[in-house]
Amino acid sequence: MVEHDTDSDRKAAERQEERRDMLRAIEKEAGEVADWLGKDRLDPRVLAAMGRVPRHRFVPLLEESAAYENRPLPIGARQTISQPFIVAVMSDQAEVTPGAKVLEVGTGSGYQAAVLADLGAEVYSLEVVPSLAAEAAERLARLGYDRVHCREGDGADGWPEAAPFDAILVTAAARGVPPALVEQLAPGGRLIIPVEEKTGRGPAHWFLPAQTLLRIEKAADGSIHERTLFPVAFVPLTKPRERPQGR
Ligand code: SAH
Repeated sequence: MVEHDTDSDRKAAERQEERRDMLRAIEKEAGEVADWLGKDRLDPRVLAAMGRVPRHRFVPLLEESAAYENRPLPIGARQTISQPFIVAVMSDQAEVTPGAKVLEVGTGSGYQAAVLADLGAEVYSLEVVPSLAAEAAERLARLGYDRVHCREGDGADGWPEAAPFDAILVTAAARGVPPALVEQLAPGGRLIIPVEEKTGRGPAHWFLPAQTLLRIEKAADGSIHERTLFPVAFVPLTKPRERPQGR
């Protein structure tokens, strides 16, 4: 008789349940920003993808039990894995269809890249912190996300050899929109990017400048259309030379 590994079966069922709770929390929060988004439901394909990607494999062991809570978590090097709701909104607004070519700036843990790959995209992801870039590339390969291509580098320059992109997601807040990223958008492409506002401080994060999430679309004729989504709190987009040595 074949013996079942009941312990890991039970764990898998628990994870499944936690993922379902996470999706419910995302849907609830999407309803709260419905006015900003202009709709009260996110793309069901995005929710289905997030119901499959094992977020607990993208966080440090110590944070595993919190992996499916709807909040950001520390991943080392003073960086975070984004809140699931933010990953959902950015993936939704990027309108990723199977076969799309997508650039991500800020690989971090690799979780957002995995969600994009699950949506059927060919993903190019850039990370400026060498240790995070190496760990994420290794993790994504180990989990079988072979449609994600990782590279260490400054995301503000984009990935010219792989351009143009149907969608670009920036997961760190920039002081302005990097021109290279707009350039590397395909006609009809979408750039989803948090930018720091020139004045003011965010109420919830008084130590961070206020930020807003922008959706920038390049029309078929090359004209640029910008829409403000809602206030957000991301870690800053940094230049490699701004990083302290040895970190
Ligand atoms: N998408 C990530 C979230 C990472 S947080 C995830 O799903 O886990 C943002 C990441 O952007 C951090 O890892 C940070 O190191 C990285 N980052 C900051 N400035 C960058 C830059 N100029 N180029 C590339 N990555 C950058």
